[in-house]
Amino acid sequence: MAVDATPADETGLVAGGVTPSPLTQRWRVRLQSLGCRLNEAELEEWAERFQQQGLRVVGDEEAADLVVVNTCAVTQEAVRKSRQILRRSQRRNPGARLIVSGCLATLERESMAREAGVDLVVANPDKDRLVEVALDTLEVPAMPELALSSLANPLFTRGRHRAFVKVQDGCRYQCTFCITTQARGEERSRPVAQVVETVNRLGQSGIHEVVLTGVHLGGYGSDSSGGQDGSLTGLIAAILAETDMPRVRLGSLEPWDLPDRFWGLFENPRLMPHLHLPLQSGSDAVLRRMARRCKTQDFDRLVETGRAAVPGLNVTTDIIVGFPGERVGDWQRTLAFTETMRFGHVHLFSYSPRAGTLAASLPDQVSPRIKRERCQELQALAVRMKLEVMRTQVGKRIQVLVEGSGEGAGGQIWSAYTPNYLPVRVTGDDPRVAANRLVEVILTGVDANGCVLSGRPADPFRS
Ligand code: SF4
Repeated sequence: MAVDATPADETGLVAGGVTPSPLTQRWRVRLQSLGCRLNEAELEEWAERFQQQGLRVVGDEEAADLVVVNTCAVTQEAVRKSRQILRRSQRRNPGARLIVSGCLATLERESMAREAGVDLVVANPDKDRLVEVALDTLEVPAMPELALSSLANPLFTRGRHRAFVKVQDGCRYQCTFCITTQARGEERSRPVAQVVETVNRLGQSGIHEVVLTGVHLGGYGSDSSGGQDGSLTGLIAAILAETDMPRVRLGSLEPWDLPDRFWGLFENPRLMPHLHLPLQSGSDAVLRRMARRCKTQDFDRLVETGRAAVPGLNVTTDIIVGFPGERVGDWQRTLAFTETMRFGHVHLFSYSPRAGTLAASLPDQVSPRIKRERCQELQALAVRMKLEVMRTQVGKRIQVLVEGSGEGAGGQIWSAYTPNYLPVRVTGDDPRVAANRLVEVILTGVDANGCVLSGRPADPFRS
């Protein structure tokens, strides 16, 4: 398979500034990503594989010999930020080799190849081979003998404790606002055995939670390379059966194509009772213009079925505000429907036309002023709904994954998440509480300002 690796400048692979470490020394690699969890999952894989090849993964503060940027193209703003990161990397490390990948690199390969300092463009179809391509094409010295198997998972060096695991890529649908389906191509699934192996490896490196992620997660197995029960249900069942991963979470899931027996999986407490189901609009007229596969009635039925099947299920969502042709009535319907869904969190996006999508050329674009007003209305509703969901949790004894800490008025404060993905602040100097620990806490209240639950470590001797 020909790899579309476009060396930017045959003659000038190594520019001035910091000269890369001699070929005898371990190279330092910095990985940067913006955009979706899938981009983040790919970054985590590259970090591990570069590490296995003897390179050292470094953070922002350290000079690097090789920089990899995983770009995003979902909005014009994401495109601007992607270019900004590339230029900043070039300025900070003029001598480093620079690789650009991701959706912008796929949609605009030539212009990316012309960006100053770019040595290699690896488009999405070749992403899974990026490490090998980099080593071959840029003559990056591989020293697997130097790879320390005991090395902590690169996630920890980046202060992260939840691993995103890519299980699927691509999407067969054509929502009119979406550029991702063009940048990511046809649906393809990672074989179940490969995913199980990845999850086990992450477990061995100290990770307690994985988030399964894809472009159209519900389409897992549609290319029938999933094996066994090729669907998402089969994959999750295999992970729960063949790994000890304490917490398995699902990434964003389009509210259709959910396989049979899906709800039964949640009987296993290791599958987290949280679903992120993008609604996008509460008006069927707007959903039709978006070419979404799910009407409000279907969405309502799906959430109702989920709540009946999964105790404590938290449903979160995405809503696009100000989609072309969104009339006052459409908006009122969106607010009313959103309220009936009692979401635990709403990501709201003010619609911005994305060149290359059908929606960008639709008539009746909504004015920025109206979009702003509608965003404020929805934000206020979203905060109110979230607090209502949180208040139902107060008094519960629940296991949280502690992630980070900071100083507060009463001493150290730890940030954590409940199984159903609600943020918690854990206070109290208890030695059991530390980063990357699963800790039993009592949820004591809701901090309305912070939209966060508060909790204290539970007494291990009292249930
Ligand atoms: S289903 Fe999702 S990824 Fe696919 S086209 Fe629609 S928004 Fe894009």
